[in-house]
Amino acid sequence: MTAPAQVGPSPLSGGPTPSLDDPLKGLPLTARQLDILQRIAQGQSWQRIGRHLGLTESGVGSHNTQILRKLGAQTSAHAVFLACAAGILDPTRRHGDHAGFAAHKYYGEEPCEACWDGERAYRRDLRAARKAKSAAA
Ligand SMILES: [Zn+2]
Repeated sequence: MTAPAQVGPSPLSGGPTPSLDDPLKGLPLTARQLDILQRIAQGQSWQRIGRHLGLTESGVGSHNTQILRKLGAQTSAHAVFLACAAGILDPTRRHGDHAGFAAHKYYGEEPCEACWDGERAYRRDLRAARKAKSAAA
């Protein structure tokens, strides 16, 4: 009889011990980092996020590194999971349009940048529609 193959560290051994205590770990995310994490959760690429926020792709990447360190996450998917588990991100909430903006207001929060972008576009469309209506009258 052979012993079962060992996959990864045994749960009894406690697994690998982090060699460095990250001084950033446990610090709160900034509003911008939260906005970036929300966009990552929505599947946006770093390139697209950077275009929205006026950052280079590597600028988004360095924010992402900070997000991972603060949350103690290994990957962006892990960061999204940890942020949802901690209640920092709500996967059922929508962002980036008028509905998302209204939800922030409802919860007494400052809207995130994605929702401000969506709200500005919504108001622009509304003004254009009113203008067209009054021109037709
Ligand atoms: Zn939002």
